[in-house]
Amino acid sequence: MSETLLEVEGLAKHYPVRAGLIRAKQIGVVRAVDGVSFKMKRGETLALVGESGCGKSTTARLVLQLIEPSAGSVRFEGAEVTKLSGAELKAFRRRAQIVFQDPYASLNPRLSVGETIMEPMEVHGIGDPASRRARAEELLRLVGLAPYHAQRFAHEFSGGQRQRIGIARALAVEPDVVICDEPVSALDVSIQAQVVNLLRDLQKRLGLSYLFIAHDLAVVKHVADRIAVMYLGRIVEIAEKRELFANPRHPYTRALLAAIPHPDPARRGKVKPLGGDLPSPLNPPPGCRFHTRCPYAQQVCKEKDPVLTNGVACHLADQLPPPDLDFSGGLTEKASQRLALYAAAAEG
Ligand code: SF4
Repeated sequence: MSETLLEVEGLAKHYPVRAGLIRAKQIGVVRAVDGVSFKMKRGETLALVGESGCGKSTTARLVLQLIEPSAGSVRFEGAEVTKLSGAELKAFRRRAQIVFQDPYASLNPRLSVGETIMEPMEVHGIGDPASRRARAEELLRLVGLAPYHAQRFAHEFSGGQRQRIGIARALAVEPDVVICDEPVSALDVSIQAQVVNLLRDLQKRLGLSYLFIAHDLAVVKHVADRIAVMYLGRIVEIAEKRELFANPRHPYTRALLAAIPHPDPARRGKVKPLGGDLPSPLNPPPGCRFHTRCPYAQQVCKEKDPVLTNGVACHLADQLPPPDLDFSGGLTEKASQRLALYAAAAEG
């Protein structure tokens, strides 16, 4: 698991904001993604985590070339993909697939499940109708459904089953990397663990690499090898999962961890969850973008933008007190159930 599969450097997506009758005047720029860099190894799961609006899903779409970057590069097996078009872009897209958050919205209601799974094979010219049908049935079995489900339509399935269909469709063209964009967020809590478990199982069997987008560190804890934490369009910390959970260095990472209720009541209670809202990417705070919410902010934080160095972007990373891992917050019944399910899925 040492070969670099994907390398992203200085990736940015800026949207101009225009005003006036014919929108001729640019009055600002929304910096949805603003200089994101990371490497992904073959066979690993890298999680991108952060609050809604931090730019993680935009990053995923930039990596897949579904939207055009304003700056930066994306290299797949060493080859630049941001300049690809036509047949070359199509060939890249065969190797990098996506599973969306909302399985219902991402499935065409007019196509049967079999047609849904066969469609990407047709687009990429893989096989003939008979072999595509056989492959669709094989994929249905692989994701825990039955071959006869190929005749049915998306509305006949539950949310978890629809996500399994979405996964089967993504795997139809035998990709190397799958971008999982909040794949379990829309699912019932009891189904989330099953889908997480399925993704882990498929990764082992097929040697897949995952870029796993989530806002929930509890999900990521059981799927990721490494975690990149995003805040306002930037990565503020990136580390091996164990390291990040044991020794979170950025105050924002600590706040996200504090938001996970700890299953052991004796270990709950000291770190305050993050307050305030995510500032607008149209007008990010000067200096460190997190300074408006950071309990450790000093004058330097308001003036100087910290650079990601040794995996963390914080002026005071080496001076902060040790993290208090006695996570705060009460443990709701739902959260308790979810953590137990993830633990069971991880063991299974
Ligand atoms: Fe907080 Fe300052 Fe570090 Fe930003 S640079 S995270 S404001 S301590």
